[in-house]
Amino acid sequence: MASIRQLSQSVVNKIAAGEVIERPASVVKELMENAVDARADRVEVSVVKGGTEFIRVVDNGHGIVPEELPLAVASHATSKIADAGDLFSVTTMGFRGEALASIAEVSRFALRSRTPEAPEGAELRVEGGEVGSVVPCGMPVGTVVEVADLFFNTPVRRKFLKKPQTEFGHVTEAFQRISLAWPERSFRLVHGERTVHDLPAVERWKDRIVAIFGRELEEHLIPVQGEHGELRLVGYVADPSYHRSHTRMQYLLLNRRYIRDRSLQHALAEAYRGLLITGKYPVCFLRLEMPPDWVDVNVHPTKLEVRFQDSGQVYRHLLSTLRTHFLSTDLTARVDAAHAPHGSGVPSPVPHAVPSSGMTTQLVTQSPQNLPWQVTPPAPPSLNEIPSAVHSNATGENVVSREPSRVPAPAAHSSVPPAVPPENLEDAQHRAQPTPDDPSTVANATVRGMQFHDRYLVTEDERGIVIIDQHALHERVLYEALRERLSQGKLEQQRLLVPATVQMSSQECAALLEAREWLCDLGIEIESFGGTTIALTAYPAILGNASGEAILRQVVEPLMEGAQKLERRDLFDELLQMMACKAAVKAGDRLTPEEVDALLAQRHLCQDAHHCPHGRPTALVFTREELDRRFQRT
Ligand code: ADP
Ligand code: MG
Repeated sequence: MASIRQLSQSVVNKIAAGEVIERPASVVKELMENAVDARADRVEVSVVKGGTEFIRVVDNGHGIVPEELPLAVASHATSKIADAGDLFSVTTMGFRGEALASIAEVSRFALRSRTPEAPEGAELRVEGGEVGSVVPCGMPVGTVVEVADLFFNTPVRRKFLKKPQTEFGHVTEAFQRISLAWPERSFRLVHGERTVHDLPAVERWKDRIVAIFGRELEEHLIPVQGEHGELRLVGYVADPSYHRSHTRMQYLLLNRRYIRDRSLQHALAEAYRGLLITGKYPVCFLRLEMPPDWVDVNVHPTKLEVRFQDSGQVYRHLLSTLRTHFLSTDLTARVDAAHAPHGSGVPSPVPHAVPSSGMTTQLVTQSPQNLPWQVTPPAPPSLNEIPSAVHSNATGENVVSREPSRVPAPAAHSSVPPAVPPENLEDAQHRAQPTPDDPSTVANATVRGMQFHDRYLVTEDERGIVIIDQHALHERVLYEALRERLSQGKLEQQRLLVPATVQMSSQECAALLEAREWLCDLGIEIESFGGTTIALTAYPAILGNASGEAILRQVVEPLMEGAQKLERRDLFDELLQMMACKAAVKAGDRLTPEEVDALLAQRHLCQDAHHCPHGRPTALVFTREELDRRFQRT
C-alpha cells in the first residue's frame, strides 16, 4: 500500500479543473461571470474553433491591480467573500475563487487588467499552471482573459472534446444564459470571423429575449408576474403553440443566475397541463428573485443546481403565478403550418422573417375562462341534467347505452338521447360568457357543419373556415362533462352482477387497494379477492360495456407510473381523460348530419374547445384574410 501524502497544488488544481472546467463553454461561463461581477457593462467573447483553440473575453469592468494578478490565478483566492457566513448571502456570480486557477492549470493562459486609477495595465501569463511574472502593458480600463489550447496538458480531457461546431453550440448556450440575465449590459459573441450575437443594452427584458431568440418568438410571449412577500417572479411564458420537444428553452434565472430545477420544471409542466401534447415542452423566460439567504448556491460545482430553504413555497408560488396568468390572458394561439412543429432544436440566433409561402392558420382564440384548470363553482344539479341515457334495467341497475347516441345532443334541437348528460344549457352558457365579438357566438344552429373523411367536421364562423377533429372535440366535450359531473358528486355507476376478477402483480394490487377511496369517488369500486387478485364490482357508466380487465389495467397504469407522488387530482385527470377517449366517437366513425350538428353545438359549451385533453388542437381556423391572400384577392 502506498503511504498517504499531500497532493501538490498542481494536482489539486487539475482535480478542481476537472470539476469546474469541462469544456470551452465552462471557460466562457466563468469568464463572463467574472466580467459581470466586475460590473462591466460591455463584454465581448471571441472564440476560435468553438473555443477549443482560443477563447478571449474582454470587459470594461473595474479591473485588478497589478499586485493582485498572481492572487487572481491562485486557487481559493477571491475578492468576493471573506468568511463562511458570506457563503449564505452571496450576491456575486463567483465566490469560490477557483475558476481562474483551474483554467490556467489546463491551458495557455493570459490575464491583462487595468483599474481606472492606473496609468497602464499589467499582464500575467500562466502556462499549464506555471505562473510567469507580472509585466506592464498598454490597454484600456478593464480586463482581458485569453485561453489558448484548452486541455493541452490533459490529453484525456482534450480527447473528449467534440467537434468545434458542437462545442460552439455549448459556448452559445452559456453566452445566452448570462446575457439573458443582464439585459442592461451589452454583450457580443464572435466565432472566428463571424459575429453571432451583438446584443446592445436594453431596458425591456423582452427586447433581450427577442434579440437572442428571434422576432418570431415575440408575439408568443405572455408576461407573467407574481409577488409573494420577498419572493418575486417575473418574466414570460410562450403560449402553447410555441413549444419545444425538449426543456432546454426553459430559462429560469434565480437572482440572475441560470439554474435547472426539476421541481420548478414540474410546476411549469403542471401549469401547461392539457395544453401541450405529450413530448412537447413549454418555453419560458422567468426571473425568480428572493433574499440570497433563502437559497444555497454552493451545492453544485458550477452552481447549476441550487437548494431552496423552502422549495415547496417556491414551487407553489411559481405554479400559482403561472396559472393566474393563463387565466387572465387571452391566448391567441397561432399555428404556422410551414413552421410547425416548432421543436426543431436550437433556436436560430439570427431573427428571420416568416416566409410568406406558409399558410398561416389560427387556433380559435381562447378566452380566459376557457382554460382547463379554471375552477368553476359547481352548479347545483338540476332536473334536466338527469342523464336521459341512463335507465334501469331489469335488475334495477343503472346501465347506459352508447349506441346510437354517440354524440351528446343539445336538448334544444335533437331528441337523440345523449351518452353523457348535456350540461344545463343556461348554466353552461352563463359560464362560457360569450361576448358579442367572440367568434364562438357566431357558429350557431343555422351554420351547419359537414363531415369529411369520417373524421373532420368543417364549419364556418365569422373569421373563416373552421376544421374540427371530431374525436378530439367529442373527447373534450365528454371530459368537461365528466369533470363537471364529478365536481357535483360521483359519476353514474354501472354495477356488475358478477364482479370481474383480474390477476395483478403484488405492487399493482397494493397500489390499487391504496387508491381505493379515490377510485370509489370516480365510481370505480374494487375489492381484494384473495392473493393478488382484484375484483371490480362497479365502474362508471360512461365506459359502456368495456371489459373489466381492460378498465383495471388502464386504472392501474397511472397509479404505477406516478409512484409515490401521484395526487388525487392527477389520477382523476388521467382517468377522466381515459374515459372520455374511450367513449368519444373515433376517427372513422360516420356521423349523421344531426350528430354532426349536435357535436358542433356542444363545442361552445365546453370550457376549452380548442384542445382535446391530450393537448392536441381540436380546431383550426383558416381566416378569411389568409384565404383572400392565398387566392390573391388582396
Ligand atoms: P471567483 O470569481 O470565484 O472569485 P475567480 O477565480 O473566477 O474566482 O476569480 C478570482 C478573482 O479574480 C476574483 O475574485 C476577482 O477579484 C478577480 N477577477 C477575476 N476576473 C476578473 C475581471 N474580469 N475583472 C476584475 N476582477 C476579476
Ligand atoms: Mg469567478
